Amino acid sequence: MAGIFGKIFVGIYVEIKRSDGRIHQAMVTSLHEDNESVTVEWIENGDTKGKEIDLESIFALNPDVAPDDEIPQSPEAPLPPSNVAKTSKVPKVCPLTSTVGTTRARPSQHSQAAEPPPPAIAPQPALNQALIQQQNARRKSNCVKEVEKLQEKREKRRLQQQELREKRAQEVDVNLPNYEIMCMIRDFRASLDYRPLTTNDLIEEHRICVCVRARPLNKKELSTKDLDVITIPSKDVVMVHEPKQKVDLTRYLENQTFRFDYAFDENSTNEMVYRFTAQPLVETIFERGMATCFAYGQTGSGKTHTMGGDFSGKNQDCSKGIYALSARDVFLMLKKPNYKKLDLQVFATFFEIYSGKVFDLLNRKAKLRVLEDGKQQVQVVGLQEREVKCTEDVLKLIEVGNSCRTSGQTSANAHSSRSHAVFQIILRRRGKMHGKFSLIDLAGNERGADTSSADRQTRLEGAEINKSLLALKECIRALGRNKPHTPFRASKLTQVLRDSFIGENSRTCMIATISPGMASCENTLNTLRYANRVKELTVDPAAAMESRQGGHVNQLEVLEAQWGVGSSPQRDDLKLLCEQNEEEVSPQLFTFHEAVSQLVEMEEQVLEDHRAVFQESIRWLEDEKVLLEMTEEVDYDVESYATQLEQILDQKIDILTELRDKVKSFRCALQEEEQASKQITPKRPRAL
Ligand code: ADP
Ligand code: MG
Repeated sequence: MAGIFGKIFVGIYVEIKRSDGRIHQAMVTSLHEDNESVTVEWIENGDTKGKEIDLESIFALNPDVAPDDEIPQSPEAPLPPSNVAKTSKVPKVCPLTSTVGTTRARPSQHSQAAEPPPPAIAPQPALNQALIQQQNARRKSNCVKEVEKLQEKREKRRLQQQELREKRAQEVDVNLPNYEIMCMIRDFRASLDYRPLTTNDLIEEHRICVCVRARPLNKKELSTKDLDVITIPSKDVVMVHEPKQKVDLTRYLENQTFRFDYAFDENSTNEMVYRFTAQPLVETIFERGMATCFAYGQTGSGKTHTMGGDFSGKNQDCSKGIYALSARDVFLMLKKPNYKKLDLQVFATFFEIYSGKVFDLLNRKAKLRVLEDGKQQVQVVGLQEREVKCTEDVLKLIEVGNSCRTSGQTSANAHSSRSHAVFQIILRRRGKMHGKFSLIDLAGNERGADTSSADRQTRLEGAEINKSLLALKECIRALGRNKPHTPFRASKLTQVLRDSFIGENSRTCMIATISPGMASCENTLNTLRYANRVKELTVDPAAAMESRQGGHVNQLEVLEAQWGVGSSPQRDDLKLLCEQNEEEVSPQLFTFHEAVSQLVEMEEQVLEDHRAVFQESIRWLEDEKVLLEMTEEVDYDVESYATQLEQILDQKIDILTELRDKVKSFRCALQEEEQASKQITPKRPRAL
């Protein structure tokens, strides 16, 4: 069969005409028999560009390569088989960009989107000529065999192409709008030079380390054909490809770039994340310091996977989480001569903070009280501190705590999305605190937006999460600036962790976990913005002062007066916190937080008083019983009886009235909270 490609073969240079009318040379990189076209590539501004062109157009511009019927030169495709296989891989140019060509670069780990690149091309006409002569000579001697082989290969290729076309057609049918976005993301990625973090990268010393970890798309996301909109091109950069729509409904990508201390892509293991985040903090606690490591992010983004280990499916394995990896290194460090001589003991605690209340996960979720003494030392009263001698001991505690954390829950995430879990490794020397490492699996940050829910329980949980995540950010920022006052009292989480945020020798690390799917885009951006602000240390102090003196404060003062909010350390910190976060906290939200704080305080008082009255009632019952028994006697003192009864009743009335009044004002506070929740502006500029 006369080759439809005439004298065209891979490697030859032909003239091509561009859509803007320019004519220039390009190299043929593959031949497509099925649609009678060729792919050509050329270099423009340092980038390799490609385009598929039909044979007719090529022949029109390059008559010298058109088939010559009179002198059939080469009956079979003029290519050695190895070359066919290699070049046929060059991707078809995606529909969106077919007229402008694609920009290609090194392939990424995102193999689902990036296709193999073409070989680097440079014009080498002399070399090409020599090759052609060589090939011709070889071809003649082996002609028949080659023809058969080529036919076979061609047939195979045709089938493969057919399959690919069918598959692509299906994708296009089912998911047309996202297909467009997918192509844009794929093209964008193809233009990048990937240099992901490796174990050879330097582990830097950070007082505050903020990094991001993106997990792979999960089964659910894959089944709903969600797209991966995250790209991590280098060791510290995260890109979010946010799909947007213009007024004329054309879709485009807004690529947002964030830089952190480290960025971990979907291929990073827990070991790798640990190596750059928590591991450097282990030494801190041996050096008499305080360390904290937080996993922050939306529910389902991988916080527990990172901190606790892999809990997917039935094979729960907490030995690969940051809790266990840190414990492992603590025991290794303990053996080092320098530290061995210190005679340190290791203890662990595991508790949960839910709706501003602390529950001990190592003691059947006992509710604990948090007290602050005159020296601002915060104590969680009765918190179980278990001595641990080896990593195995720690793994057992983590298991106990985890099962306690989620017991009675339909789903682990349903509960953990609303609570912070704190796992601590404490070093003690002769009973005295030497160092402490707190590892925290935070509540899902999207729950901080639940403050205007119709359900009170959800609202109060949301308020506490909102407040605690804001307070956490401020405490870390204050640590970075060595600021004297930290609004740690604004939330239970920061109050409990207070000692870790102060002092020269305190270090912290935040791992912001993100879900890669397009469906999570908004939450992901919120997570990244928050993480970004945690380390935003370059704020101009003058500008900060100015914004603090802005209109909000006055409004706050008005509202404060209106709601009759008195002063207390908690409220002062809350106020400070809200002032520092004006963008996120509207005056109405501040009022709501005030109302919630008041409510929580009153609830505690009412419960405490009720318990006291209950105890007192038992005593009254006994007294009354004695009194009544006295009246059974024939000659009892009626005067004394009446006096005593009156006394008991007076006491009862006093105490019960007091409790009733407290309950009344508590009920008023409940109503105020409800009112305040309705006033919260629905549009919050930056949700947590
Ligand atoms: P969160 O604690 O933030 O709510 P999880 O840690 O429970 O999220 O993760 C949600 C799901 O995603 C789990 O099934 C978990 O196994 C899986 N997952 C999270 N991170 C990764 C990862 N890096 N690699 C693989 N699977 C992950
Ligand atoms: Mg979790």
